[in-house]
Amino acid sequence: MHCQRCRGYMIRDSFVDLRDDTGRVLFEGWRCINCGEVVDPVVLTHRMAIPPKPYRGQTRDRRTWERLTAA
Ligand SMILES: [Zn+2]
Repeated sequence: MHCQRCRGYMIRDSFVDLRDDTGRVLFEGWRCINCGEVVDPVVLTHRMAIPPKPYRGQTRDRRTWERLTAA
């Protein structure tokens, strides 16, 4: 696995997060040995999530419009 920031080599590592609001204290993740980037399963889940599509609708006179939703 390579770092998405610097393309450096990433290693499996264990992390302790005392502020984790998911209830986990110890978790497994990936750490870049080059820049220190940490990727944990929660980060991966968010990164792989499909971003919301722009909302599309029609005005009364049936012109199509779209509004970008803030992520
Ligand atoms: Zn890196």
